[in-house]
Amino acid sequence: MREVAEEIKEEFSKAGVDIPVDEIEEKLRTLVDKYYVPLDEAKRSVANSLAKKYGVAKVVGVSETLEKIADIDAPKKWVNLKGKVVQIWKSESDVISQVGLIGDESGFVRFVKWKSADLPDLEEEKCYLLKNVVTDYWQGQYSIKLNRNSEIIPLEEDIEVASQEVVKEGAIVSVQQGSGLIKRCPMCKRVIVKGICNEHGKVEGVYDLRIKAVIDDGKSPQDILFNKEITEELTGISIEQAKEWVREYLDPSVVQSEIAKKILGRYFVVKGNIVGQYLLVESFEQLKDVREEDVQEALQKAEEMLS
Ligand SMILES: [Zn+2]
Repeated sequence: MREVAEEIKEEFSKAGVDIPVDEIEEKLRTLVDKYYVPLDEAKRSVANSLAKKYGVAKVVGVSETLEKIADIDAPKKWVNLKGKVVQIWKSESDVISQVGLIGDESGFVRFVKWKSADLPDLEEEKCYLLKNVVTDYWQGQYSIKLNRNSEIIPLEEDIEVASQEVVKEGAIVSVQQGSGLIKRCPMCKRVIVKGICNEHGKVEGVYDLRIKAVIDDGKSPQDILFNKEITEELTGISIEQAKEWVREYLDPSVVQSEIAKKILGRYFVVKGNIVGQYLLVESFEQLKDVREEDVQEALQKAEEMLS
């Protein structure tokens, strides 16, 4: 710890500020011994607070190099990266202000912005330079944390993000409005309402079948979209069948409720690419409604209660 304190002292003396090494060491010890802050992070934090106290602009030990997202390979590393925010989820936590997904040409990483960081909000589809963020590793995946020492710099440039295949396993918890039989504008393929396209006015719509749903893996909900082919395969409801129901019941929502009956509350593994807020499903597998792990867990609990 003394060594690290000396390093900090050295950096500050380069900037023409002389700080007693004992003062630095004491601050480090408080963070490391009392609050179990990793030494690396403590170093940065102490350097930052001393920089503020002594009016030194430059923060000690902060790397200026940019890291590619795919190169993140260790937790608790301070990195700078440029990326485009592709998704933001609402945070249910009192201490987290935003959770989302940011991507660059090499890949994607989940980010977490602490409330205590007191940073501006990130927006979907916008590009940023994120400075001094900390990598983390949990359940087989890396993430980055934006804390009080981090900086968010909005960029004008557009960053081309990698297409990313993701796999989600979970229960379908919602089948949303706009699922079932829809009509699209023959020119722009947008969904039309009452025969009117926003762009092309009154058009002869073309029927299509799709599902907008939400899958929940117990960690985070994900919006998913099934196209006509996958919807037919998933539900066994063909577009012809759907049209027939609509003719018969004179109500397009009948298709949505038939779809919901077949998939709501059931477990699936879905695979596809993330585009904007949606995972576009390219393939899926239906799982047994009751998962083996859940059964095992219940049995174990029962045994524990009896013993
Ligand atoms: Zn149109």
